[in-house]
Amino acid sequence: MSEKKPTIVVALGGNAILAEDASAKGQKERLKQTVEYLIPLIRKDVNLIITHGNGPQVGNLVLQQQASDSSKNPAMPLDTCVAMTQGSIGYWLQNELRTQLKAAQIAKPVVTVVTEITVDAQDPAFAHPTKPIGPFLTETAAKEAMAATDAIYREDAGRGWRKVVASPAPQAIQEVASIKALIEQNTIVICAGGGGIPVLDNGLGVEAVIDKDFASEKLARLVDADQLIILTGVEKIALNFGKENEQWLDHVTAAELETYVDEGHFSPGSMLPKVQAALNFVKMGAEKQAVITSLDKLADIEDAGTQITWK
Ligand code: ADP
Ligand code: MG
Repeated sequence: MSEKKPTIVVALGGNAILAEDASAKGQKERLKQTVEYLIPLIRKDVNLIITHGNGPQVGNLVLQQQASDSSKNPAMPLDTCVAMTQGSIGYWLQNELRTQLKAAQIAKPVVTVVTEITVDAQDPAFAHPTKPIGPFLTETAAKEAMAATDAIYREDAGRGWRKVVASPAPQAIQEVASIKALIEQNTIVICAGGGGIPVLDNGLGVEAVIDKDFASEKLARLVDADQLIILTGVEKIALNFGKENEQWLDHVTAAELETYVDEGHFSPGSMLPKVQAALNFVKMGAEKQAVITSLDKLADIEDAGTQITWK
C-alpha cells in the first residue's frame, strides 16, 4: 500500500497575478513567474488545489461593464463578473501550468472549476456591507441610486461615493465532491477564485464578495487537506507590523496567535482574515498545518514563513 499523498490548498494573493500591468499580457507574464514558484511544490507529488484572489480584476471588469451598459449589451451583475474572472484567471493559470508541467516532464492534468459558494441570507454581514465595488459616483448620483434601488453607497476616503456590498461567511462549496474526485485522479484543480461566486440557499447568485482566505479555508476543511498555504506580499506575519519593535513570527500555536489577534496586531482588511483562516484550519486537528508566507518561499516551505499549528 502506498502512503496517502498529502493534500495542499495554496491560496494565491493579489500580487501573484497582477503587478503593475493590468493587460492580459502583463497578468500572464506575472502568472508565469508564479507558476515557476509552484513547480517545486508540484514535484513533491502532492494533491494540489490552487485558489486565488480577483479584487483588481473584478473591479476593472465591473467598470468595463458599466461603461458600455446598454439595453442590447447590458452590464452583468457582480456574481456573473466573479464567474467571468474565475474563468479568465483560471484560463491564464491552467494554460501556464500546462506549459511548464510539460517542460518539467510532469504528467499531471490541470483544470479550473467555476465555483459557487453558498452564503446565508441571514448572515449579519448583509446588514453591514463593507466591501467597496464599482465606480466612484458623486454624492448626488449615489443618493439617487440609493433612493431608486436597495443598494448602499458610502463615501470612500475622499474619492467619491461607492457601492458597498456584504462580505458573508462561506457556508458550503457546491462543487466540492467534484474537486475531491479530480485531485484523487491526480489533477491539479484551480477553484474558488475571488472567494467563489456567492449564492443563496435557493441557488440564486447574490451581490456580495466572499473573502478568498475564508473561502480557501472552508475548501481546505471540506477536502480534508493536510496543509493550507496562504501566499501573500510578506514572508512572515509580524507583531507590531511596520513599527520599530516589529517582530517576525516563525512558528506559532493557535493559542499564541489568538492572543496576538486580541492584541490587535493584524489589519482587518488584509492580514487578519489570513490569520483567522489559518486559526480555523489548524483547530481541525493537531496534524493540520497552516503557513502564511510569500510566493518565493514555496520551494522550501518546510522552513519558510510563519508556520501555524494547533499545539
Ligand atoms: P492578499 O492580496 O495576499 O490578500 P493583502 O494586501 O490583503 O494581500 O494582505 C497582506 C498584507 O497585509 C501584507 O502584504 C502586509 O502589508 C499587511 N499586513 C498587515 N498586518 C500585518 C502583520 N501583522 N504582519 C504582516 N503583514 C501585515
Ligand atoms: Mg487580501
